[in-house]
Amino acid sequence: MTYETLELENHGAVRRILLAREGQRNAQNQQMLDELDDAFAQAAQDSSVNVVVLGGKGAHFSAGHDLKQAQAERSNFTVEQRWAYEGRRYFDYCLRIWDFPKPTIAQVQGACVAGGFMVANMCDMVVASESAYFSDPVGHTLGAAATEVLIHPWVMGVRKAKEMLFTGTKISAQEALRIGMVNHVVSDAELSAHTLALAQQVAKAPPFGLQLIKRSLNRTLDAQGLRTALSAHFDTHQLSHLSEGFLAARDRGLASAIQKNA
Ligand code: ZN
Repeated sequence: MTYETLELENHGAVRRILLAREGQRNAQNQQMLDELDDAFAQAAQDSSVNVVVLGGKGAHFSAGHDLKQAQAERSNFTVEQRWAYEGRRYFDYCLRIWDFPKPTIAQVQGACVAGGFMVANMCDMVVASESAYFSDPVGHTLGAAATEVLIHPWVMGVRKAKEMLFTGTKISAQEALRIGMVNHVVSDAELSAHTLALAQQVAKAPPFGLQLIKRSLNRTLDAQGLRTALSAHFDTHQLSHLSEGFLAARDRGLASAIQKNA
């Protein structure tokens, strides 16, 4: 299986999926999102794959959704059209990564912003390099109620989630480590090998046992209301797309937020 926006590598029982739009800092356009969903579906069915690593080629993991494409193709979406588009490609695709039946590790360098933050945090573990930074600035840049999947309080605690979302500022790799949002921080040069070694260690265990462990850990969060909270936020987020703040940002040009997102 080959993709235009992804590169796949096989390392024994580990499949590494790399976002591959380096020139656009791996901004997620519709094609990339569709290909990523397909790549995860293929990996789920492939019995030779026990663990998936999700990374990005180049200097950045992902700068987020492709706002140039959003401006060109979706700026005049009706409520119904946006609900369908974002429900499928942002919410459902993300939750499928969360529910993916094998362990996943995000391998993050450089920008991990907004839609990129959302996707990276769907993975079970995160390994970051020193250059990595995490943010969701769209409350400031787009007047939106954060990104579509409000995973933030579940991975960093509600205090830091509030600070990050209220201020629109970045969290460095070291701070992400300190607050428990990432598992390891290594040098940029070591990121690829370190993440792969962690994945190989996980892949030594019998896969069905791993699947059940993941299922139980995710159910622990479901018992605390994760899925209900994420679904409720999706609805709230849709409301924000009709707000004065969002419509003003749209009229200025959604792509003008890209610089701030960086
Ligand atoms: Zn949205």
